[in-house]
Amino acid sequence: MAEYVPLVIERAEGVWLYDTAGKRYLDGISSMWCNLFGHRHPKIDAAIHTQLDQVAHATSLGMATPPAIELAKRLAELAPGDLNHVFFGSDGSSAVEAALKIAFQYWQQCENPQPRKTRFLALGEAYHGDTLGSASVGGIDRFNAMFKPLLFDVIRLRTPDRQKMPPDVGAEYYLAELEKVLAAQHKEIAAMVIEPCIQAAAGMVFHPAGYLRGVRELTRKYNVLLIADEIVTGCGRTGPLFACELEGAVPDLLCLGKSLSGGYLPLSATIATPEIYSAFLGTSASGRSFRHGHTYAGNPLGAAAALATLEILTSDAVQQRLLDQITQLEQILAALRSQPHVASTRQMGMIAAVELTPSADRNERYPADMRIAYQICREALKHGLWLRPLGDTLVIMPPLCITKDELNFLGDLLSTAIATVTDNPLPAEAVSGIAGDD
Ligand code: PLP
Repeated sequence: MAEYVPLVIERAEGVWLYDTAGKRYLDGISSMWCNLFGHRHPKIDAAIHTQLDQVAHATSLGMATPPAIELAKRLAELAPGDLNHVFFGSDGSSAVEAALKIAFQYWQQCENPQPRKTRFLALGEAYHGDTLGSASVGGIDRFNAMFKPLLFDVIRLRTPDRQKMPPDVGAEYYLAELEKVLAAQHKEIAAMVIEPCIQAAAGMVFHPAGYLRGVRELTRKYNVLLIADEIVTGCGRTGPLFACELEGAVPDLLCLGKSLSGGYLPLSATIATPEIYSAFLGTSASGRSFRHGHTYAGNPLGAAAALATLEILTSDAVQQRLLDQITQLEQILAALRSQPHVASTRQMGMIAAVELTPSADRNERYPADMRIAYQICREALKHGLWLRPLGDTLVIMPPLCITKDELNFLGDLLSTAIATVTDNPLPAEAVSGIAGDD
C-alpha cells in the first residue's frame, strides 16, 4: 500500500473507462477478466433496474427468488453433460471453497462411502482464490508463502505448460505423472482441481492439447472427482461457453464466477452432477445436507445481471461476432510477432499472452527486476490503453463487445508501446519502487 496509487475510475461505457479527469482508457483486461460485454450494457443495466424495482435481496437460506431459480435452470441447461445442480456463492474463491467441501463431504456419505478420501490433487502454479481452502489448492508462492502454516497439504503436480515441455512430446508427458500419483494414492484423494486449458494467474499458461481430456479419463478410471475452475475461462472467453468443451471433458463440479454476472456484481456458482447432489439428500436428522452458505448467495440483482449476460452470450449474433473477433486477434498477434522484441504469442479464444525478449535469441528473457511488461503497460496507459501484466507476460483479454476499430486500436497501441519501451527500456533501478501490481 505504501506504493499504491490507484487510477480512479468515475464512469465507463462499453470498453472505455473514464478517470476523474475525464481521460479515457480502453479496458484491455476486462476489469480483471470479469467484464464480459462492456460497461453499462443497456440489457444488463435494464435487467438490474427491473429487479431493483422488485427486491434487491432475499436470503437463499430457506427462501429463493425468481431470478436465482431461473439462473440455476439456465446454467443447468448450458453446463456440459449432466452438470445440473447449482450452488450459488458471491465470488470465485467461495465457488472453489464450496466445491472442495462438497467433494470432501461427498466421499463421507455417498452410496459407497470412502472416508479415507480426504486429500486434493492440484497443479503447480495453480490459482483458485484467496480463502484458505482455495489458497491451499493454489500453488503460487507469491500469494501463499506467508500463509503456509494455515493451509492444508495438497498433492502437487508439475505445471503442464505447453511452452516448457520438451519438443516432440505431447500431453502424455504430464499425464504419465498424473497416472503414477493416482495409481499410488487414489484411495486417499477426494478430487483433483484444475483450471481447464489455461492457468490464468500463473501467466496465462496454456496446457498441451489433450491434457484435460486425459485428466478426465484418468480421474474417472481412479474414482477421483474432477473440479473444473472455469472462473476465468468460462462464459465464452476461450471460444465455447466453457473451456471444458474444447476437450469434451465433463467435470463432476464446475466453478463459475467473474464474467457470470457480466462483471457487474459479485456472483459465483458451483455446479454439480445429480450423482453428487443426491448424496446430500436426506432428512434433517440425517445431517447429510451441505452446511455451508453465504449471506448474499443467489442475490437476485446478480442473478438478473447473469441471466441478461447469458442471453447476450448465447445469441447467434454474438457467437458469430466472437468468431470474427478471435480471427482479428489472431491477426493482431501475428503482426506483433514480427517485432524484434516479441519472443512469442499465444491465444485461446479471446485470451492472449505476449512474451518479450531482449535479443534476437527468442529464448532469452529480460531480467525480472526490469519489469519489462509493466513498463510497457505503463507506456500504453499514457496513450489510453489499460492492461495489467502477469510478471513479464503481457495479457490481452478485452470485453467481448469490443468493436473491430477498438480491437485495432488496442493492437496498434500495444505494438507502439512495445516498440517504444524495448527500444529504450528503463534500467531496473528506475522502475523499482514504482507503484504497480506486476
Ligand atoms: N479461480 C481462478 C482461476 C481465478 O483466476 C480467480 C481469480 O482471479 C479465482 C478463482 C478467485 O476468484 P475471486 O477473485 O472472484 O475470488
